[in-house]
Amino acid sequence: MQKPSVSGNATTDRGWRLENTYAQLPEAFSARVNPVPVRAPKLVALNHPLAKSLGLNLHDWDEEAVAIFSGNRLLEGSEPIAQAYAGHQYGGFTMLGDGRAILLGEQRTPSGQLFDVQLKGSGQTPFSRRGDGRAAIGPMLREYIISEAMFRLGVPTTRSLAVVTTGEPVYRDSTLPGAILTRIAASHIRVGTFEYFAGREDVNGLQVLADYAIARHYPEIGNKPERYLHLLKAVIQRQASLIAQWQQIGFVHGVMNTDNVAISGETIDYGPCAFMDAYDPNTVFSSIDSYGRYAYGNQPKIGQWNIARFAEALLPLLDSDREKSIAIATQAVHTFPDVYQHYWLSGMRLKLGLISEEDADRELIEALLAWMHQTQSDFTNTFRDLSTESLANEKKYQAEAFQAWYSKWQDRLGRNAVAKADAVKQMQAINPAVIPRNHLVEEALEAATEQADYSFVEKLLEVLAAPFSETSEDGRYRTAPSPTEHVYQTYCGT
Ligand code: AMP
Ligand code: MG
Repeated sequence: MQKPSVSGNATTDRGWRLENTYAQLPEAFSARVNPVPVRAPKLVALNHPLAKSLGLNLHDWDEEAVAIFSGNRLLEGSEPIAQAYAGHQYGGFTMLGDGRAILLGEQRTPSGQLFDVQLKGSGQTPFSRRGDGRAAIGPMLREYIISEAMFRLGVPTTRSLAVVTTGEPVYRDSTLPGAILTRIAASHIRVGTFEYFAGREDVNGLQVLADYAIARHYPEIGNKPERYLHLLKAVIQRQASLIAQWQQIGFVHGVMNTDNVAISGETIDYGPCAFMDAYDPNTVFSSIDSYGRYAYGNQPKIGQWNIARFAEALLPLLDSDREKSIAIATQAVHTFPDVYQHYWLSGMRLKLGLISEEDADRELIEALLAWMHQTQSDFTNTFRDLSTESLANEKKYQAEAFQAWYSKWQDRLGRNAVAKADAVKQMQAINPAVIPRNHLVEEALEAATEQADYSFVEKLLEVLAAPFSETSEDGRYRTAPSPTEHVYQTYCGT
């Protein structure tokens, strides 16, 4: 087997400018570990626009890129680490850490931003517990497809730079082709990272982490004495805003454990996630979420629960008096529902083209959702159908119940701050025509897994790159699944 080695001139040739700011934090933050080399790596996906924005000059045929993204060769200047963290998984606290991921370092982009470059599925680490440290091709391509779709939909998210197959099998319920994903993130600091230090009662570590997170994600907070409360409030804003955006596009994360909540406010850790077809707040995809803890309609509530765990972890930093800390934290956590509602309502107004604000708007929006639920209407397509000057000639839109709602909405648009044509244009820019429909994603992953055929993955990525535009050949990607096509379950496949 090939050993990782330092590449001669990767830094100068390809635009890599790696820093290791996280690796330089105190020892408890991470374990130093190299990726485990793989037998026969093959590049199956490379995100050219992302590479470019990172200042990288990469090519599909580039042997060096394959070696780097498989972990077979280390980038010059990389100090690879597995990050330590904990998390509440389905409500229970556990010590975790990167069991199958390795942070190669942070890329400094030409515009000066810092992004984590992480390999996922790169072999065992000291945090692997009983896991093999590997990943299967299906889940890695699912993360690639959905995260890219989310990015194009304008939702904050980690992104995927590359997927390589390893040429080695991984053993799950069946034997599957192994793969490694290269993930790009604003950082991989999670609520669970704070819980890790709180759980060890390491207040110094907690403070170092909080200061690092502030400097990296919330520099405007600065050095004020009350900076940790400001951090809590800022994370509440970003998480509430993020989850409101998920709700507005019908995204179900599937595993909102606290180790999957990024302090940066990006969507992270795409497991059994999927987009809802017919509108139903009870929508669950994850095969292991049998109680519906992470159902679509529960996401805002779970968001607040996760923020409460973050606030708890921060207690030692909020005040030297524990009672006072608890009072401060509680007050902040209780703001979450209102903050969330604010983001949700302003986003939903835009989805219906409501530029000005009226008190009855919420009722109008909720009446539409109730109708969609009752008639099992497709969430994405209903909003897109409404984003036109005159309504599509569909039977369900002729029904009395809908017509009553529609004329109220038309009246409301008549009182709008802008002309209807402009409102419709705005609606088309935020109500997507194409989303990664679960049945299509599954079909693409099956072809990739079973026949090593990536053509449908590529086609999906191409269509999803422009979610707000419509072309004559889009039909297949815009149609809700028929009852026989419907995929109700997704698997963690870890
Ligand atoms: P996730 O469900 O992906 O959020 O992962 C939860 C935890 O399990 C994290 O600490 C992962 O690093 C770890 N993990 C998941 N899959 C594996 C695996 N195949 N080998 C080792 N650790 C894993
Ligand atoms: Mg995770």
